[in-house]
Amino acid sequence: MVDAPVRIKYRPATELVYIDNSDGTGPKDNYNAASMPIYQTATFKQQSSTQMGEYDYSRSGNPTRSHVEKHLAKIMSAKRAFAVNSGMTALDVITRLVKAGEEIIAGNDLYGGTNRLLSFLATHNNVKTHHIDTTNSETIIPYLSEKTRLVLLETPTNPLIKIADIPRIAEIVHERCPGALVVVDNTMMSPYLQRPLELGADIVYHSGTKYLSGHHDLMAGVVAVKDDSIAEKIYFTINATGVGLGPFDCWLLMRGVKTLAVRMDRQQANAIQIADFLETHGFKVHYPGLKSHPQYALHAKMSSGPGAVLSFETGDVELSQRLVEATRLWSISVSFGCVNSLISMPCRMSHASIPAHVRAERALPEDLIRLCVGIEHVDDLLEDLYSAMTKSGALKLAN
Ligand SMILES: *Cc1c(COP(=O)(O)O)cnc(C)c1O
Repeated sequence: MVDAPVRIKYRPATELVYIDNSDGTGPKDNYNAASMPIYQTATFKQQSSTQMGEYDYSRSGNPTRSHVEKHLAKIMSAKRAFAVNSGMTALDVITRLVKAGEEIIAGNDLYGGTNRLLSFLATHNNVKTHHIDTTNSETIIPYLSEKTRLVLLETPTNPLIKIADIPRIAEIVHERCPGALVVVDNTMMSPYLQRPLELGADIVYHSGTKYLSGHHDLMAGVVAVKDDSIAEKIYFTINATGVGLGPFDCWLLMRGVKTLAVRMDRQQANAIQIADFLETHGFKVHYPGLKSHPQYALHAKMSSGPGAVLSFETGDVELSQRLVEATRLWSISVSFGCVNSLISMPCRMSHASIPAHVRAERALPEDLIRLCVGIEHVDDLLEDLYSAMTKSGALKLAN
């Protein structure tokens, strides 16, 4: 039986900065430091050969890691959370719940690295993944069987910004396949805007490299669960393989999480204006904050905001390339979630590892431009885009 999710008590922005140790279960620091120190140590001395302390070896546990994990569990409405080396490590740890011969069902507009890992599992571990269009919940039904172990969702997807109905899919999966787990990659939304464990998912994971840390100075991943027995399995793999996040990175992650709300509020407000601006200029814009998004209402039901990643089409690959290269303020870079604004062409960059025919099958437009909006002054961002549109000739096309 899966436990009911532990819901957050205060508003999300407050929970992000409020360190709750009222139950006394948090890691203790001798000097009551306001910021949990970096316990940069591999081992911990024991009182005697028979009396073991709370920590003995940092692969198995470290106070700085415990501190950030407890805080993450709280903000993700999870029973337990784990900090690991990267977002891909988070997925790797989760996929180790799947045995050879079992199957995964996943979206068809997934993060490129996720595709790469799932393909590896298919060729090396006999774990097949069915890729389906998760925008229509019912499409999953024919793929569900007693072999299904994980149903892996991203919502919104990246870069097409398609929405999956987490509560409905979780309901279908749990009803038909009690042994299967619904897993959500919530990197794009962050726990501030969306908490999939409250929506029926069993496991949620994040690339901590993105919004949680927020400054592109750290690689990290987070796995969170609402069930103790799954938590034990996840912990076993982390300890067995040694992928727990190092103390300094845990400290950086904790520092980043505290400012998530102010960063996201600003980034999202900027993104809303930019999406409007692009749509007004005639581009086809993919953003769940626009009423024109086909799943605007569904997204609004599950989350408290549209986030700060959007994509748009110019209708011409060369034009898109000129536009991207004509910006100055927008760095040409993969990734998102940073305080700086980024621009990219997914088919040439983050999603280039997906073969061209598969990109075509998945209707991923080659001319697509992705914007990851930062915290700069929105007028500077708009002016820079406008100037790049003029220089590249995109403005003529749009009018
Ligand atoms: C970046 C990203 C990942 C991978 O995270 P890393 O920290 O780079 O390993 C997984 N999923 C999504 C949606 C991402 O954006």
